Amino acid sequence: MLTEFRNEPFTDFTSKANEDAMKAALKKVKQEFGQSYPLLIGGREIRTGGDELVSTNPGNPKEIIGKFSKATVKEADLALEKASEAFEKWRNVPANERARYLFKAAAIMRRRKFELGALICYEIGKNWAEADADVAEAIDFCEFYGREMIRLSQPQPLTPYAGEENELSYIPLGVGLVVPPWNFPLAIMVGMATAAIVSGNVVVLKPSSETPMIAFTFCKIMEEAGLPPGVLNFVPGPGSSVGDHLVTHSKTRFIAFTGSKEVGLRINELAAKPNNGQLWIKRVIAEMGGKDSIVVDSEADLDSAADGIVASAFGFQGQKCSACSRAIIHQDVYDEVLKRVLERTKKLKVGSCEEKETDMGPVASKSAYESILEYIEVGKKEGRLVAGGATNGHQGGFYIEPTVIADIPPKARLAQEEIFGPVLAFIKGKDWHDCLAIANNTEFGLTGAVYSKNREHIEEARRDFHVGNLYLNRKCTGALVGVHPFGGFNMSGTDSKTGGKDYLLLYMQGKAVSERF
Ligand code: NAP
Repeated sequence: MLTEFRNEPFTDFTSKANEDAMKAALKKVKQEFGQSYPLLIGGREIRTGGDELVSTNPGNPKEIIGKFSKATVKEADLALEKASEAFEKWRNVPANERARYLFKAAAIMRRRKFELGALICYEIGKNWAEADADVAEAIDFCEFYGREMIRLSQPQPLTPYAGEENELSYIPLGVGLVVPPWNFPLAIMVGMATAAIVSGNVVVLKPSSETPMIAFTFCKIMEEAGLPPGVLNFVPGPGSSVGDHLVTHSKTRFIAFTGSKEVGLRINELAAKPNNGQLWIKRVIAEMGGKDSIVVDSEADLDSAADGIVASAFGFQGQKCSACSRAIIHQDVYDEVLKRVLERTKKLKVGSCEEKETDMGPVASKSAYESILEYIEVGKKEGRLVAGGATNGHQGGFYIEPTVIADIPPKARLAQEEIFGPVLAFIKGKDWHDCLAIANNTEFGLTGAVYSKNREHIEEARRDFHVGNLYLNRKCTGALVGVHPFGGFNMSGTDSKTGGKDYLLLYMQGKAVSERF
């Protein structure tokens, strides 16, 4: 019997056995670096020749993780064709059978947890705990969506009507383009791809150009799980060229995207225009950026608030869509909260993700590094630099110290634009209502948190703090599958609520059948 869904536990790295296993995994995956990898289309490995997409370690950019054949328009077309062929069979595979491919993949990932974690440490610079959480979330998505599909395949309740048998069932959409970001290189990619697959769709996966190795490894895991050829196709290539072609193609039925606001809006716009021969309105599921705040009221547990701010601002170098990039503090406690945040920030260890003790690794890429440093310069003019601001060139890696900039005006660039790095803006609010108004003053609406002991204020935040994921007296990162369905409002996206009970419906359409006997 299938047991009830439970979240995958995180690995305890204080255990010597786990520490040793992680060190062994880091060693093992490193031995395989530098190889060339093909595209995977219709169950076949395809090498395109020419220029390869080179994935490097952001902590040591000379180290090549893997080299990938780049898809051109020709391979993109082939992937759509093979996926369309596979759909004809896959859509008729019963839901519980489809679910078992996900359960099998989850079991494989559980067995290879350290190895996957090690790969994430190297390819994108997560520390051990963050990498482990990424793998756990990927396992959760497989286990959760598998169970959800079984639930949704049961007869749906309808109002009885004399003389007729009525039924409503959910059927898949068709060929889906899955476009993930690099920041949860396993979890988000697995979440979108498996949701699509278990719902009966077939997938063309265009991985992030920063993390193709992790995406390739996942596709091989699905192959090992026995997924039929063509159901999941691996098509790496620059978003700017092959991405547009896949989005606009008439065979693409839906697009599941997670990434920046700019790319999400572009996909949404391109997908809205029917292409020659296209039979449907493309569905776009787009989860985009954030500019997330933690509000600290005058009556609050200030230590707990400082812990929550530092964990949310600097976990994975601030490169989470849910990261706290604005601490909005009631003026009565502003200086005290700033002092406590600085005490904690200064203790964070920046360094290589091969080391167990590292709190913060490198940022994702050279372009991220340069953009974050530019924002720090802007911040120095808009406010007062009170921590960090410096780089740390260990092995030529993209390391940036955790940075806090105080006294940022609520409408400054640092308070409004997504930086996606370890840069925290401190903003002073005159009173509780001013703090709440500032928290709502961006175009985004993804996550937010409030620390307060005032019941009335907490209730007001529940009602009026306009974000998809609101946290009260806790940090604003770390959503768990099934526990905190995740997705944002306004320019943060279509509020798809990943890891929630409504999510799979985005990948299906309801068919009502009535028979009069
Ligand atoms: P990005 O630059 O928007 O890229 C996301 C994906 O889109 C990548 O696979 C990228 O491929 C692809 N892409 C780029 N241009 C494309 C095009 N014209 N057509 C099709 N695909 C295209 O975002 P990112 O830097 O990877 O990720 C960081 C962003 O993701 C942040 O804004 C963050 O807030 C957001 N995010 C949101 C959530 C959420 O749940 N709301 C979760 C995680 C991250 P290439 O790599 O080849 O360019």
